[in-house]
Amino acid sequence: MRTHLCGTLRSEDVGTRATVCGWVAKRREHGEHLAFIDLRDHTGIVQCVVPGTVDVRSEYVVAVEGEVRLRPAGTTNPDLPTGEVELHDCTVTVLNAAEPPPFPVDDRVDVDEVIRLKHRFVDLRRPTMQANLRLRAKVNSSLRAAMDRQGFLEVETPLLWAPTPEGAREFAVPSRLHHGSCYVLPQSPQLAKQLLMVAGVDRYYQVARCLRDEDLRADRQFEFSQLDIEASFVTQEDVLSFVSEAVLDAAEAATGQRPGPVPTMTWAEAMDRYGTDKPDIRFAMELVDLTAVFATTEFRAFSAPCVKAIVLDGGAGLSRSRLDALTDRAKALGAKGLAWFKVTQNEDGVTGIESPVAKFLSDDEQSGLVAATGATVGDLILTVADDYRLTCHVLGALRLELGGRPVSEGPYAYLWVVDFPMFDGVDDAGNPVAAHHPFTMPHPEDIDRLESDPASVRSQAYDLVLNGWELGSGSVRVHRADIQARIFSVLGISDEEAASRFGFLLGAFRFGAPPHAGFAVGLDRLVAIFAGEDNIREVIAFPKTQSGWDPMTDAPKPLAAGALRDLGLQPIPKLD
Ligand code: ASP
Repeated sequence: MRTHLCGTLRSEDVGTRATVCGWVAKRREHGEHLAFIDLRDHTGIVQCVVPGTVDVRSEYVVAVEGEVRLRPAGTTNPDLPTGEVELHDCTVTVLNAAEPPPFPVDDRVDVDEVIRLKHRFVDLRRPTMQANLRLRAKVNSSLRAAMDRQGFLEVETPLLWAPTPEGAREFAVPSRLHHGSCYVLPQSPQLAKQLLMVAGVDRYYQVARCLRDEDLRADRQFEFSQLDIEASFVTQEDVLSFVSEAVLDAAEAATGQRPGPVPTMTWAEAMDRYGTDKPDIRFAMELVDLTAVFATTEFRAFSAPCVKAIVLDGGAGLSRSRLDALTDRAKALGAKGLAWFKVTQNEDGVTGIESPVAKFLSDDEQSGLVAATGATVGDLILTVADDYRLTCHVLGALRLELGGRPVSEGPYAYLWVVDFPMFDGVDDAGNPVAAHHPFTMPHPEDIDRLESDPASVRSQAYDLVLNGWELGSGSVRVHRADIQARIFSVLGISDEEAASRFGFLLGAFRFGAPPHAGFAVGLDRLVAIFAGEDNIREVIAFPKTQSGWDPMTDAPKPLAAGALRDLGLQPIPKLD
């Protein structure tokens, strides 16, 4: 139907006759003798000059035939890639009329999210959204190419599946043929990919759709895609290298620049220095440990297992109300309080501190505080004293809020975080909770302490972090029944429970499970960062709103009575 694409016409094409197809972005009439149409397709916009009048309106679908000419002197448009040329003496064929669009198809127009999603098919016509979809496809195909090159086989795993013990709430799909029973949509292909290792696939990957019934936010949708990987007879180092290769390839395809090798940091170091397991290492403002400085303090608020601080350069000028707001924020994050110290200088040039709590600290503690933090005159020191995890959590969050930048803003700082703890807290029954999932291999040096001191056991689990966003996680898996049984026992999972929840996996492992390890990279987050978007919705064709609603299809909707009957379901009133 067409000979050229709108956005591709250039001065080299002058003299050719071209037919382009697309949507009317704009129409202007010059009296009765001349009309101008800006025609848009996915490649961009070209100006078409039509003799006489033309009966088209915004977003009409048309084919335009004309001759490519240079625009008259003084009328070129440097903002448009096609701005030197126009299609001249055009004939316009209306392929389809269109109602006026619910909002202008223009990146500069700010439109309510629900309206955008209700008319996503119009929203996606915007140049930025077209670019995002294309970027996503590019990232996708370079990830696939990297995995193919590294000898991985793409295998599709089922969507109708059984529960996966990875901790997220899952979507259930009622079965028509088995009344009262449900399939579960996979929160990840975790168990399937491990079974593929038992099956001798050796190296598996999939651009997999995963589903989790969890509250939505900027970096989370019910359904998302990940590059899912598993490999046999490999070490943690091998997995880090496979994934780095794929992600750096994708980064190069998306941004034109190949990032350098990805640095590695242990979980303990990440927590110590940044207060989080997904540090944004684009800026310093690191946490300073002051536990030793206050080891023998008389100040009750500081006699805690852990005292840490961050320094806000030049922050001594913060107003009292701003400091109060920071204290409130620290409390909202779980701290008992936040002590602040302004580093000052008296008339004699002597450095000191100014703080409502300064009087409770000895001279040594005051000077120790300034020396340990390296703060200088004009800086603000913020301290939290509590248990280790909480102190890190609060100061890590304040560090980001005070010093952080939007996640999608360059430069791109990739980081491997390794040696995660095996367990994270305890459940209601007092049993340790698996930090990654129960099939994660403990660190070989710590395995002896699995029963005696589980909290101190590190695992062979690792995360990939980009600009403070967790891009993905993975682990070396337990392939030996004896170690798995010990882990289940520490987790308080009985033999019966293990057999009923993932008996099929454990059963398969008895038939020759190779050592294996894997990883999953969140595609939506990766593409969002490359696209400069802070919300993954902008890189997903048809996302849901924050409340999990699709304004376009109005899903989720009640099922018709007949469909409910077929499924053996009966709605009951919602319980609060
Ligand atoms: N299944 C894990 C996840 O989805 C990734 C992995 O361990 O391979 O986060």
